[in-house]
Amino acid sequence: MDLKTPGLYIHIPFCLSKCHYCDFYSLTSISAVPDFLDALFKEMEMYRNRFNPFDTVYIGGGTPSLLSPQQLESVLVNVRENFNLISNPEITIETNPADLNRSFLESMRENGINRITIGVQSFDEKVLGFLGRRHSVKQAISAIEASRKAGFHNIGLDLIYGVPAQDIGSWLDTLKQAVVFSPEHISCYQLTLETKTPLGMRYQAGEFSIPGEELQYEFFMKTSNFLKDAGYIHYEVSNFARGTEYTSRHNQKYWDHSPFLGLGPAAHSFQSNQRWWNHQSLDQYIAAINAGNLPIEETETLMIEQLRLEALYLGLRTKKGVSLQDIKNRYDYDLFTEKKEMLDKLQEEGFISIQDSYLYPTQTGLAIADSLSLI
Ligand code: SF4
Repeated sequence: MDLKTPGLYIHIPFCLSKCHYCDFYSLTSISAVPDFLDALFKEMEMYRNRFNPFDTVYIGGGTPSLLSPQQLESVLVNVRENFNLISNPEITIETNPADLNRSFLESMRENGINRITIGVQSFDEKVLGFLGRRHSVKQAISAIEASRKAGFHNIGLDLIYGVPAQDIGSWLDTLKQAVVFSPEHISCYQLTLETKTPLGMRYQAGEFSIPGEELQYEFFMKTSNFLKDAGYIHYEVSNFARGTEYTSRHNQKYWDHSPFLGLGPAAHSFQSNQRWWNHQSLDQYIAAINAGNLPIEETETLMIEQLRLEALYLGLRTKKGVSLQDIKNRYDYDLFTEKKEMLDKLQEEGFISIQDSYLYPTQTGLAIADSLSLI
């Protein structure tokens, strides 16, 4: 039995329109929402009593804010009927600014949702247009203000940088505008161009260029320094919190191999050394459940070496770093002895620091976290 507290993820696979950079699975028609919810509630029943009480629930997507207040309420009622939650769970919902109004937000609060992330992406209309977002800057601002008024004390803003229509100055303008609202959490993701997306195809056709490595590094460092000066902790490569109490409890589970159960199409789960994921297609997902089966597409058993590599890869992306003792206990590997020379070199070059048997990435280390994990 895993001693770490598990988290629950629920995937809502609908978006009214597809953003030009997105390759996540989602459907642009919401006509199948009722059938999806029926299947989701059956899937919850199938997992009843199979996990310890959850301390986080994360409703992500897709666009969960496309559900009606009644549908969202039924999701949370079914969660509570089928699973135990600890007394003060973190319950998060991902939202699009275009969907948020005061009464919807108040009903979210009444249903126990205590953390909201708002997909603002940019406070620059040109950038929003380039990304194909379906909301405006004005809607983003009123969504943030309405969330505060509805009683949210834990608001996260998602932002994207490294967009071709944007230079560092205009990105910093977006950050300046973001901190005006004192959100408790800010995620800054660098734009990645996936080949089959509209932006990926335009890029391959040579329509625009994207920042090279040096400029990406500059975006990263300017972002980190600006938000630190504004009072935020840079606690993971892409994530900033206005105090340790506002770091995402749920996302931490992905970074430290805590168990989590993912429900809904394409959702991933992890427990002990098993990882499994659901059918991506909504039709297949619903058909499997209606036939009385778990809608699992595949299950993978991870070897201890894979788990160790993942633990390093994920841990070195966080300010919390990696416990050398933990690596020894959980994965039977003495990193300090096995890689002493490499660790000394990285420390000398200022990418990591080692204190009290913990390996921490420095700010420069965080900027190249993916290469750091190759130690
Ligand atoms: S709202 Fe999110 S999931 Fe939906 S298309 Fe846009 S980026 Fe993708």
